[in-house]
Parts: sequence; C-alpha cells; structure tokens
Amino acid sequence: MARPDRLLLAGLMGWPVMHSRSPLLHNFWFGQQGLAGTYLPLAIRPDGLEAALRALAPLGFSGCNLTIPHKSRAMSVMDEVDDVARRIGAISCVVVREDGSLFGTNNDWRGFLGSLRESWPDWSFGSGPAVVIGGGGGARAIVHALVSAGAPVVRVVNRTREKAEAIRDSFDGPIEVVDWDLRHEVIADAAIVVNATSQGMAGMPALDLDLGRLSPAARVSDIIYIPAETPFLAQARRRGNPTLNGLGMLLHQGPPAWKLWFGVEPTVTPELRRIMEESIAAG
Ligand code: NAP
Repeated sequence: MARPDRLLLAGLMGWPVMHSRSPLLHNFWFGQQGLAGTYLPLAIRPDGLEAALRALAPLGFSGCNLTIPHKSRAMSVMDEVDDVARRIGAISCVVVREDGSLFGTNNDWRGFLGSLRESWPDWSFGSGPAVVIGGGGGARAIVHALVSAGAPVVRVVNRTREKAEAIRDSFDGPIEVVDWDLRHEVIADAAIVVNATSQGMAGMPALDLDLGRLSPAARVSDIIYIPAETPFLAQARRRGNPTLNGLGMLLHQGPPAWKLWFGVEPTVTPELRRIMEESIAAG
C-alpha cells in the first residue's frame, strides 16, 4: 500500500480483551510491512457492539477482528456476510468498505489450515478420518477447514449432541455425529484429533479424553494456545504423537485479514512466532 493519507487502524473487539496477544501480532506486522498504523484492543461491552461497529467507518478504521462474546451477534449488524461466515455462524473479521458499509467474514478456518500446512507440510488431509471434539464456533471453523481440505470423514463429538448435529446440517460434506460417551473409542482409527472445546484453557479443567486407543502416527491438535501445552497435548506428546497447539491458527488467520483491510499480506516468520511464544510464556 503506497503512502496512505492517514494512520492505518484496525483492532480486536472483545469483552474481556486486554489479555489478547492479537495487538502484539498485528503491530509486529505494521513494522514488518513498513506501514504507519496501529492495532488496538477494543474493550466493547455486549450492549455496545452495534454502536462500536458502526463507529469503525467514521473513525477511519479499515476493519477489526471479533472475539468472545461478539462473533455471532455481529452477524446482524453487517451489511453483508459471506457464505463461509454464515455457515460457521460466526464472524471473526469485519471489513469497512470504501462506502463505509460493513462486510463480515471468518478467517479462523484459514488459520487452522495455514497452521497445519506450515507445521506438517508432508501430512495429507486425505490420510484418514478426522475427529473434532467440540461444537462451538471454533469447532464449526475446524470442521469447515477439514472438509474443505479433503478429509474423507469428519466425526464431530460434542458434550451437547444437538450442536454437533447442527454442524453436520450446516456443511456439505462427509460429517458424522458421534455420542460424547463414545469419544474414547471413536479416535481409534483417526488420522487427526482436534480439541476445539474450551477444556484445557488456562484456569479450566483438562479435556476428559483418553488417547489410549490412538495410533502413534495420528496427529493431535488443540486450538487453545494459552497454555502453550494443554493437558490433552501433553498426553499426546508423552505417547509420541505429533502435536500442534492453537498459536499457528491465530497467526495464520492474520494475513487474509490484512489482505482485506490493507491490500497487503504480511508473513508469519520465525521471529514473530518466537515473540508470541515468549509473551505467552511470560503470562
Ligand atoms: P464456545 O463456542 O463457547 O464452545 C465451547 C465448547 O467447549 C463447546 O463445544 C462446549 O460443549 C465445550 N465445553 C465446555 N465445557 C465443557 C465440558 N466441561 N466438557 C466438555 N465440553 C465442554 O467456544 P469457541 O469459540 O468454540 O472456543 C473454544 C476454544 O477454542 C476456546 O479455548 C477458544 O479460545 C479457542 N479458539 C482458538 C482460536 C485460535 O485462533 N487458536 C480460534 C477460535 C477459538 P457444549 O456445546 O456441550 O457446551
């Protein structure tokens, strides 16, 4: 982007939001790209979401990311929502268009694919069944990613079965719903198992999943990145399974957002990853 006439602005709307590492990530990229701009944590209460989104254009923001609890509710404020965000049922990225109208999309699924492709370049999504534990917004993005990338079957296991059924009904693809009680068995022939629940986050109990039946070659991923290693990933690592946490998913949803906001695609570098890992480790 050549010499913009104003400071480039974007941010993250959430409540709470001050714990987020997204400002560190995006402000690294302003430096990397040599652009004058800033990415702000925007602490927006749920009842202030619509006003805050409508203020983006007059304030000169190019757009924003959304996190808990705004990802679904923002849908009704957008002037246009793309098909993928509608299917996932959540907006992760808002773009302010030239005429001030708001466009909503979801880049979480792209982040997950980018992370797996970066960390496991030789692994094939077609290599066997995928098992996704969870039924919230994160799980919906992961299921979409796995189906899009060619997983032969995606089994969705959620404590509340109805949410898993709703995922199956939202996407075209080989999606099966499996009862929560069968979670320890359904992973036996899995090529990849993904935790997309909030279980294992800092301050939360561990995911109750016994990996005893899992093949040693199966890939194990958690979309949580704080802590860097959840008890679920630690269990997999001790068994010798290759593991991957959710930091790469956060990093790789950024470049497609930048392309939409600023017309450039920054890169995920080893230095950026190290800065993020050090910040997370510091607590
Ligand atoms: P959400 O919509 O609130 O869904 C939470 C999920 O956790 C639901 O499936 C819920 O099951 C399950 N769960 C909660 N308590 C449970 C328990 N005691 N036992 C079993 N399952 C339980 O949250 P979300 O937005 O999907 O986020 C989930 C996680 O993904 C969070 O840790 C979030 O930070 C992370 N995330 C990471 C990224 C990234 O870029 N790395 C992106 C998005 C999300 P029920 O349906 O039965 O309640």
